[in-house]
Amino acid sequence: MGVKNVNPNEQLPYITTTREAVLAWGRKNSLWPMPFGTACCAIEFMGVVSSVFDISRFGAELVRFSPRQSDLLIVAGTITYKMGPILKQIYDQMSDPKWVISMGVCASSGGFYNNYCTMQGIDHIIPVDVYIAGCPPRPEAILDAVLKIQEKIENPHKTPPAQFQVKEPKFDY
Ligand code: SF4
Repeated sequence: MGVKNVNPNEQLPYITTTREAVLAWGRKNSLWPMPFGTACCAIEFMGVVSSVFDISRFGAELVRFSPRQSDLLIVAGTITYKMGPILKQIYDQMSDPKWVISMGVCASSGGFYNNYCTMQGIDHIIPVDVYIAGCPPRPEAILDAVLKIQEKIENPHKTPPAQFQVKEPKFDY
């Protein structure tokens, strides 16, 4: 992208860019999150949206509870097998392009609930773009995840370092 003068005498600048760059710029600065909060991590997410941490600094404050109006799914809390189909349906109803943050160890791996009813990671049923460690994660970690999503939107073809490359998840629902 660059700024150039059409005519040096008239001093009217124009900008050269690509359609993809403009779309990515708009998308990354206007994420509409949908929190799928089932446990204590959801309380932590409330802190991120409110004034102290203020997620609106990153253009992601329009929290929606309708999947059709959202493009960023934040799964915050323990997910049981019973909730699995509902989470999958909500993900499917979201408009494309869409991104997913798995917030906290419970959503990412089942956490310490290694039992008969807890799903051992939401990536068994939906693709995840960013995982956040912690129980619960600090609000700064959630903001960092939003920044990582923004980076991913801006550079859609960037390949992650080898140690972070994982195989496509197998969806068993
Ligand atoms: S990761 Fe910790 S804080 Fe988050 S839902 Fe699980 S138990 Fe609660």
